[in-house]
Amino acid sequence: MNIMKCFECETCSTHIDCRIGLSNRDIQPFQFACPSCEEQITLNVSDGDFDLQGATDIVDFESPFTGKNPFIDLHLDFPASFGEYKMGYTTFMRVSQEIGHENYLHLNERLNALNYLYPKKRELRRLITQYKRGEVNTFRKTCKKLLNIQLKSDEKKDVLAALYTATSIMSSPFTSHKHNRELSTKMPEILDYLDFSHKEKTRAFFDQIIKTNFLTTLHHECLSLYPKIIDFDLPLRPALYFDYKSLSNDKISGRVSTADFDSCSNLYKDLSEVFSRLLTLVAGINNLLKRGDYDLFNDSVRLNKKKEIIKDLASLDNFTNMDFGKKVECIDDSFYHIDESAINHKLRNAIAHYKYEYEESAQMIYYYPNKEGMKREKLYEISFLEFLRNTLILFREVHSLNHIIKSLLFYAVIILKKDI
Ligand SMILES: [Zn+2]
Repeated sequence: MNIMKCFECETCSTHIDCRIGLSNRDIQPFQFACPSCEEQITLNVSDGDFDLQGATDIVDFESPFTGKNPFIDLHLDFPASFGEYKMGYTTFMRVSQEIGHENYLHLNERLNALNYLYPKKRELRRLITQYKRGEVNTFRKTCKKLLNIQLKSDEKKDVLAALYTATSIMSSPFTSHKHNRELSTKMPEILDYLDFSHKEKTRAFFDQIIKTNFLTTLHHECLSLYPKIIDFDLPLRPALYFDYKSLSNDKISGRVSTADFDSCSNLYKDLSEVFSRLLTLVAGINNLLKRGDYDLFNDSVRLNKKKEIIKDLASLDNFTNMDFGKKVECIDDSFYHIDESAINHKLRNAIAHYKYEYEESAQMIYYYPNKEGMKREKLYEISFLEFLRNTLILFREVHSLNHIIKSLLFYAVIILKKDI
């Protein structure tokens, strides 16, 4: 269903023609910037009620729209267009034409899964907290009540199994199941192989990541991201759409009908931090596979021109502190395919150091990642929607790599009988 409205900006009195495509979400918080003064306007639709802030509703406006006023198309589930008003050519109609009916049905299933999960986000956060604190009794009850997951026993392996079922449900609208299933079967085989062929170093690797608490801390950091990603169900909805749209000639473009960059930038930063630390596990396992020693990186990256060992690559421990942007290239011929499109360390650095500007009406992010003293010269830009797409892909990478943690934990508990 679509609703046509005309709003008058409270700040600059501009009249804005608006077409609002409604979705199945029970509460629909729209947000956009006044095209003329950038002031934020919000519109909350719930149970047929409209709550408008930053603008007033003009009751007797000209319909159909004449093109005299700026036009804003809004839809929470899909990228809306920045273009001109075309009567009848709604966002829903355009996207279902672009991706086809079957794809649309699949996308809609995922959107419905979000509609089901997002009202539970507080309880989902509680579930993760209960696991992290080791409160097995309450964790067991929450699993059953919230997601109908039954713990087989209170043993660590069964608690872990329930936990991973929960995170799999929480991530299901955002991820590709097939990719994760592959990793879930491949990882235990890899660990079996390593424990057989390089037993001493493999066991030492386990000892190191357990003794230093690295594995547990990193696992907990990963887990915290699941309730967080559900918190961002609204801005990530239009990013899902690009799983279906072929992008051969087309760039990611379109309007996001809710939230703004500032509210989403921390999530990207958090995902980047965790991803960067996860690369330590990938590097350690890769070094074991390639050279039988988790500390030993390939000579082509480990040695400088004078054939001296570069400090950051002298051990896995040193590698952990390396710059995020440099880590991937130090993992030679990785057993795990790292999706490099997930990594934009320039943007991550710019966010971390507040070196960006956001133009809300055009939904463009301008960032300056280079160290340039007081000047800001080298400018990069990315649209808000493309940024959200990057965030989604980065979450998928983190979720995939969490399957490596899963295998390491199960191996430690079941085979190595470690108490973690
Ligand atoms: Zn205005």
